[in-house]
Amino acid sequence: MDGVIGPGGSAERNGTTGELETGGAALAKGAAGASLRISGTHFPVRTLGPGRRFVVWLQGCALACPGCMSRHTWDPLGGSGHPVPSLLALWRAALAAGADGLTVSGGEPLDQPAGLGALLAGAAAIRDEALAAGSRAADLLLYTGYEDEEIDRNPSRTAAVRLADALVTGRFRIAEPTALVWRGSANQRLRPRTELGRARYAAHLERTDEGPRLQTHLAEGESDVRLYGVPLRGELAALERRLARAGIRLDRRSWRP
Ligand code: SF4
Repeated sequence: MDGVIGPGGSAERNGTTGELETGGAALAKGAAGASLRISGTHFPVRTLGPGRRFVVWLQGCALACPGCMSRHTWDPLGGSGHPVPSLLALWRAALAAGADGLTVSGGEPLDQPAGLGALLAGAAAIRDEALAAGSRAADLLLYTGYEDEEIDRNPSRTAAVRLADALVTGRFRIAEPTALVWRGSANQRLRPRTELGRARYAAHLERTDEGPRLQTHLAEGESDVRLYGVPLRGELAALERRLARAGIRLDRRSWRP
């Protein structure tokens, strides 16, 4: 999840930092022609999975959970389109800088299943290449608002998640707050799917995190502040109160219509 607050301008900016060329066997199958509509990217993020992570937020979500903090990611025509190879180049650079994993969030990633599958396949291949060259293991974590059954009975969604090491699944339900780490409501499930996923996430399945759970980011030359993470109930309201006490008035918040 991510949120945006700001005193002016559009809330629907994207944080992608550039398009680089990437090569190698990782892109030979499928990724080269694929593209994704994204809301943004960032590295390092410490609040959406273990360690320092490269995060890609995909654009577009029709699930419209009441209380969603990322309403700026709902419009499927918002954000910007990017070739998957340019996102993989950023992933490769993040790995070289010591990333512990890739997190894909949104928006609803599974509403772009073909591009998502290509992104995860390319990311897994680059990760495996780096591992063979002596880098640390890096996991692939995917957030989705779809329930497990909605994934399992849909072949394109099942194919898209095939290479994810772990999933966080389920709608955000505002009436079911939780302190479970990396989850926004008590119904959401953290599902390790691979050996690496089980090794990395087993200790976190029931772990709670009493916060603060948001990382803030103000990019150079921009007026909007990005909030990265899954807040505890009340955390966003507390942030608004702190800003108000400091004399900062917000014109826009991505969790308000
Ligand atoms: S699935 Fe996620 S992005 Fe979509 S409305 Fe629900 S909380 Fe928001």
